[in-house]
Amino acid sequence: AHLDRIAADDGLLHAYLHVDGETALATAAAVDAARAAGDELGPLAGVPVALKDVVVTEGVPTTSGSRILEGWRPPYDATVAARLKAAGTVLLGKTNMDEFAMGSSTENSAYGVTRNPWDPERIPGGSSGGSSAAVAGHLAPWALGTDTGGSIRQPAALTGLVGHKPTYGSVSRYGLIAFSSSLDQAGPMARTVLDAAVLHEAIGGHDPRDSTSIPGQHPLLAEAARLGAGGDLTGVRIGVVRELGGEGHAEGYEPGVLARVAEALAVLEGLGAEVREVSCPSFDLALAAYYLIAPSEASSNLSRFDGVRFGLRVGDDGSRDLDEVMALTREQGFGAEVKRRIILGTYALSSGYYEAYYGQAQKVRTLIGRDFASAFGSGDGDGVDVLVSPTTPTVAFPLGARVDDPIAMYAADLCTLPASLAGTPAISVPCGLSDGLPVGFQIMAPTLADDRCYRVAAALE
Ligand code: GLN
Repeated sequence: AHLDRIAADDGLLHAYLHVDGETALATAAAVDAARAAGDELGPLAGVPVALKDVVVTEGVPTTSGSRILEGWRPPYDATVAARLKAAGTVLLGKTNMDEFAMGSSTENSAYGVTRNPWDPERIPGGSSGGSSAAVAGHLAPWALGTDTGGSIRQPAALTGLVGHKPTYGSVSRYGLIAFSSSLDQAGPMARTVLDAAVLHEAIGGHDPRDSTSIPGQHPLLAEAARLGAGGDLTGVRIGVVRELGGEGHAEGYEPGVLARVAEALAVLEGLGAEVREVSCPSFDLALAAYYLIAPSEASSNLSRFDGVRFGLRVGDDGSRDLDEVMALTREQGFGAEVKRRIILGTYALSSGYYEAYYGQAQKVRTLIGRDFASAFGSGDGDGVDVLVSPTTPTVAFPLGARVDDPIAMYAADLCTLPASLAGTPAISVPCGLSDGLPVGFQIMAPTLADDRCYRVAAALE
């Protein structure tokens, strides 16, 4: 059924970069045969899934939305892909994305834009916009995205989906094409909170192949979603972040977005939650800090794309030396936004500027972590259990509206960046429509308290 929907609608939406229907049907048939034979099946046996093209998949083209990886077929599976395979899922295909996950609209893909199923003249968010469009358009039941500064939560919000950025270190980064390694996390995008929790549980947990992976027990998420769906939030303390759309900080936020968020808060109060305003002053600096840290790490991570090891190689006809081939390959293989980030990041890390830019940004990052810590308190009732905000300041904007204005594009992530920099979990859950377009409600929790995000989101759903 999903392959039929892809055949019917993906010409318009362009959610997918690669679909292999034959292999998907063969995998599904193998699951049917195993079931008929009474074999033991994985917990998600036969359930289709789509993966953002930043996830490395053995033998399946993986481009990260970039020309420089055109034609590359990885020799191994990312841990998240391997875990989904082991659970029995059927891979439908790889979804479109901003090149190397740099963007908020999927307009930075080297392979063309993806459209929002709610209004094909609008963007589906980004960078995981192929995944959001696929799930919102029913071209996949659920999908994986990755979130460095908002790329799961923001596209989920703009397409009416649930999207969760896990605690940093709780989902393996092994086999994700690195953008900003201290921020990148893979996570679920789904149409319900319970679906997201189930998909998250299938990919999460410790992985010895990722040195930043957190060992030990991780919280139970599907159980938390089921608990929340009961609708009782008695005693749950919710902090509304003033700096994210509150009084004196509402510039750039659409009134329709703020109205839906206010209604959601009233619903949560009606379910027994205690709602209060909380100030996190350093959140105002998150955007500036992020756009130094992420490009700095990217400039280092992207040095591996040299025209020798993977994908594209330009000008290697015997007339040029190696440096020229590398330069030509990178010139033609990378798009404008990726080059902007490499230049910014290289500059910020260069000697003489390092302390002034990268060093300062790291200090801001620490302050943001402290704002979270003081809002959450010591856990003895002196703080809140979760923090909330809009997920994005606006609903999905028209295609082309921000492509020539990087700062306006970056502003789409104002609300999602603090949790990214702090490494803390955050979910976006739909909270109604404004002008006929979906609005997302963000719920942020302390490190490894991802279950709280799912509980409160399920109550709101
Ligand atoms: N839009 C942000 C950026 O361009 C975040 C992207 C992401 O989370 N991958 O960096």
